[in-house]
Amino acid sequence: MMCSRVVFRCFKALERLGDRITGAAGPFFVAFAVILISLGTVCFFDVIMPSLMWPLISGPICVLIALNLWMHYFYVITVPPGFADDPPVADSAKSSAQNSIFWASKKAPRRGELAGVRWSNELVITQAGVTKCRKCGQQRPERAHHCRICKRCVLKYDHHCPVRVNQCVGLHNERHFVMFMAYLVIACVSLSITGFPHVLQALGAGSTYAFDWPHHVPQIAFILVYILAVVMALAVGIMCGFHLWTVAHGETTVESQDHDTYRRMAKARNETFINSYDLGKRRNLELFFNVGENGYPLYTLFVPLRINPYTDGRAWARREGYNAHRGVREGEELTDDDGEDEGEA
Ligand SMILES: [Zn+2]
Ligand SMILES: [Zn+2]
Repeated sequence: MMCSRVVFRCFKALERLGDRITGAAGPFFVAFAVILISLGTVCFFDVIMPSLMWPLISGPICVLIALNLWMHYFYVITVPPGFADDPPVADSAKSSAQNSIFWASKKAPRRGELAGVRWSNELVITQAGVTKCRKCGQQRPERAHHCRICKRCVLKYDHHCPVRVNQCVGLHNERHFVMFMAYLVIACVSLSITGFPHVLQALGAGSTYAFDWPHHVPQIAFILVYILAVVMALAVGIMCGFHLWTVAHGETTVESQDHDTYRRMAKARNETFINSYDLGKRRNLELFFNVGENGYPLYTLFVPLRINPYTDGRAWARREGYNAHRGVREGEELTDDDGEDEGEA
């Protein structure tokens, strides 16, 4: 008994040390990411862009991809995820800041407001239950979790991202996080495909113009950036796919782990676990990106503008007839103490 307590304490101490290192290393990861994305951008526009066909069409498309990549990266590291102790801001109070050029505008005036939530005829939006955090003592709505590194309760906590983002991914920046990953994948795939003849040329393979390299970027730098782009296209592609999969199922990263446990518990009782936030793949994706009926127009997926989430994090859209998940009983829900939410890249 004594022994297990010592092991537990050692583990906790190691974990706190890990958190401190993660917190301190964050800014370096961000600086590193900025350097790598800059290198990729310079390589593309210096070496590949001038050789693309139909420059009047391909040029603006490439500039738009680069703008989306950079702006969503900027938003994901600068827009706070939203904390449980933030005062709930009424939409009218936010409007002056939202008139800036960085905000998308809505196609139609809102039909009505219900406690900071977009009101709709077809959506069933219920106020979130509130619990008290055992770590910071804060009253927090459903889907909020305590982040060990930020030491605060984050609204619709997804994960703390030390690599690249250096803050939590939550309600207000999760959309930018996924959009950034998606545009990073698009950029890396484009660079991998269109850069292939140039990397052969830089290697001096199969070209009579092997030593004709009329670009500012040195061959070796281009080759390294090209390899990095291929690796990133695969790695970030898998991560982005995983995130879109959880979004399409109405879950966050933490919830997808918790729901696996609930599914097993329900199955052991011959019951089926049903996630009450899951409104079907299409609706879940529409709500996440806040597009479609009552949301913003679809073009907001292709321009680097900011838009608000559909909720203020204190009320959630649920399946009709549900006010909680099915298959998990009261007292069985996992807390932050059970499945410690780990930092993920
Ligand atoms: Zn907390
Ligand atoms: Zn955090």
